[in-house]
Amino acid sequence: MENLELTIQEIKQELPGLKLYENEPMSAHSSFRIGGPARALAVPQDVTGLTKICYLLKKHELAPYILGNGTNILFPDEGLKDLFLISTGKLTKLFLLPDGAIYAEAGVPLARLAGFAQQNGLQGLEFAAGIPGSVGGGLMMNAGAYGGELKDAVESVVIHFLPEQALYELTKEQCAFGYRSSFFQKTPGCVIVSAVFRLEKGDPQAIAEKMRELNEKRREKQPLELPSAGSAFKRPEGYFAAALIDEAGLKGFTVGGAQVSEKHAGFVVNIGGATSHDVHELMKHIRREVYEHSKVVLEPEMILLPPDYRLEDHGPQVPLHRVWDGE
Ligand SMILES: Cc1cc2nc3c(=O)[nH]c(=O)nc-3n(C[C@H](O)[C@H](O)[C@H](O)COP(=O)(O)OP(=O)(O)OC[C@H]3O[C@@H](n4cnc5c(N)ncnc54)[C@H](O)[C@@H]3O)c2cc1C
Repeated sequence: MENLELTIQEIKQELPGLKLYENEPMSAHSSFRIGGPARALAVPQDVTGLTKICYLLKKHELAPYILGNGTNILFPDEGLKDLFLISTGKLTKLFLLPDGAIYAEAGVPLARLAGFAQQNGLQGLEFAAGIPGSVGGGLMMNAGAYGGELKDAVESVVIHFLPEQALYELTKEQCAFGYRSSFFQKTPGCVIVSAVFRLEKGDPQAIAEKMRELNEKRREKQPLELPSAGSAFKRPEGYFAAALIDEAGLKGFTVGGAQVSEKHAGFVVNIGGATSHDVHELMKHIRREVYEHSKVVLEPEMILLPPDYRLEDHGPQVPLHRVWDGE
């Protein structure tokens, strides 16, 4: 990929202060602890740095892959040799606006955002305190838990739109949030830069207590002691993925280093040395067995990279609209 190499050289010359990892193992940037080397991973320290890199990539007709905290992605064993990745993890400005809303940049951890809301007596983000992702990744996925979703708290989102190299502010409605989905997922080229959250006033102590309770519940039920990417599959309408997997007798089922968690069947965990191949094989097996057992098709919740990987090549034969299509 000559073009990528030229672009990397130009970025190094034009932005000498930029933190740029080359041939960086993605296992170090993934909560799953899985993934081979990415050719380049840039970590801009502010929004200006982010837009400068995007501009240089666009000049060479390259589109970056955007990374948040890497808590919902399975990176491939063979790495990402042709991709330029940008992490928004260092965009961490967080403050209260004069009208009482919260401004948060994309890299702010959701736990920090929830803690900040609590300290300022603002309720509605207690559910997010235990989600290990960032604001950017959370909005991309419309992350949620215990009856709450980020869409309930967000007022507007600013994106850097790669095709036009322009910043846009989207209202909550324009973000078209749905269950673990958003406008950003369906529109290639959106880099989430920041968001405004509008919350109701509440009692800081009661908010802290709710957060403590939910985190306790999480620790009790979820295999937080092992690397994972959270829930492996989305909740199918009318069912719970974990219950379907458990009913199919798959708790503890293991392929290589990847295992259906014995604590919570909805999680695929890395019990040591798991490869991306192990996880893919295990997920294919789960889909086949659950379909055999319950005639329900499970769709992955985590992002499987590279994006053209097609689970259905090995999965149950079902009508196309029910099957994850790789987007
Ligand atoms: C132990 C554990 C528990 C979890 N519990 C929950 C839970 O309760 N509820 C829940 O919803 N999820 C949960 N997750 C999954 C995950 O934390 C969420 O999906 C989270 O929102 C992902 O955020 P991230 O910053 O890690 O995104 P990443 O994993 O880095 O990225 C996820 C997607 O967002 C994109 N993205 C990231 N940042 C940006 C940006 N700034 N602009 C554009 N695109 C971006 C990436 O390209 C990718 O497509 C859990 C994961 C783990 C490991």
